[in-house]
Amino acid sequence: MSVAKTHQTDQRRRLLLKGLAGLGLGVAPISAWANSGLQRVRMSVDGQTTRLVFDMEGPADYKVFALESPDRVVVDLSGTRALASLEVPSNPRSLVEGVRYAERNGNDLRVVLDLRAAADQHSFVLLPAQGSPHRLVLDLTERPRSVMVARMVPETNSVVRPDQMREPLRDLIVAIDPGHGGHDPGAIGAGGTREKDVVLQIARRVAERVEREPGMRPVLIRTGDYFLPLRERISRARAAQADVFLSIHADAIQDRRVQGSSVYILSDRGASSEAARFLAQRENSADLRLGGVPIESKDDSLTSVLLDLAQSGSLEASHSLANRLISEMHRVGKVRKPEVERANFAVLRSPDVPSVLIEAAFISNPSEERKLRTESFQNSLADAILTGLRAYFATHAPPGTIIAEGRRDRHIIRPGETLSVIADRYRMSVAELRAVNDLPSDRIFAGQVLQIPSRGS
Ligand SMILES: [Zn+2]
Repeated sequence: MSVAKTHQTDQRRRLLLKGLAGLGLGVAPISAWANSGLQRVRMSVDGQTTRLVFDMEGPADYKVFALESPDRVVVDLSGTRALASLEVPSNPRSLVEGVRYAERNGNDLRVVLDLRAAADQHSFVLLPAQGSPHRLVLDLTERPRSVMVARMVPETNSVVRPDQMREPLRDLIVAIDPGHGGHDPGAIGAGGTREKDVVLQIARRVAERVEREPGMRPVLIRTGDYFLPLRERISRARAAQADVFLSIHADAIQDRRVQGSSVYILSDRGASSEAARFLAQRENSADLRLGGVPIESKDDSLTSVLLDLAQSGSLEASHSLANRLISEMHRVGKVRKPEVERANFAVLRSPDVPSVLIEAAFISNPSEERKLRTESFQNSLADAILTGLRAYFATHAPPGTIIAEGRRDRHIIRPGETLSVIADRYRMSVAELRAVNDLPSDRIFAGQVLQIPSRGS
């Protein structure tokens, strides 16, 4: 397996640079040091699928896209450096022929996988579990020759399911969006707590729970402390084919006595209260002030009508999701208003993804500010959100999903999955998983159905 490193001065390096120039690298400023490290890349092959697992020191934002002639897949990891030379064993059955990598912008890492044939990719992130670190998993499946494909398929943090047709059932995708980030701190409490920090912590706890939930899979829209325009948040959720979108925030108001959490959905005509209107203005304005693209673009009237129609369908679903979440959040702490509130939040404007905005307590209230920082409150809130999601999906899971078919105790093996990846996901040991399923060995195959014992909840 050929591996080139940037500091080598042989022909390989020139090839590498030439290769990268061909990928359209722009000139970018040298930014702060990397904050995550790529420890190694592991590869396994199962039938048509080659799986690469990127073991990461910490979370990192990433992009995956494919290029043709020659066929390549590019993985960009932001704020990441290579901690060791990245090598994968040579395997003639693998779709990956070679791995090259180079630092970009003084801060980011670009990994280029040279392919033997055009491949569809499917990527997702796994949180640390049972001694395994943060992982980015990339499955490459050989693309049937007859299929017409776009010349270039860029995607951002997305889960593409090219094999959906062959997959009998799928997971529900839960997009979790921690508000604000980077130079936009959100609201700041009297004790100095920043909204962007606590909402990221809460979002991660929700993602961990969703990851462990059979039939659900999380997509964390913001994984670190950086700014994302609202439109980008929506497009990441849509690229991931999210079934629901949860934006997580903490509320703030002049009157420090006000407390309690609330759940909002997009208003189709005006805000449900004056307070809701002000809040939406505040949450939306950060984006405009900080260089985001305004969410309203000049759609022609036909497009707008179609969007309106799609949106009213997802509004009903959003309302139902918000209701389930409020009922569960009652158990955790004070809920400011028992009913779902409506306001014109730009981040909720996905025409086809049911979307809610959770204001998890008031950061402007000193006692709630303290609470927001505690692990116990964050955990109970994340538990409540998961329970709310379960209740919502019990009636709203789309056909073709594991949950809609009432198979929450099942896991259908995807191409490239290994027993240890599946065991990780459900917080079990491989031995336990094998015992439950009477598996004589670690050999499994795509499409095989495993029993996942229920853990209660
Ligand atoms: Zn906010």
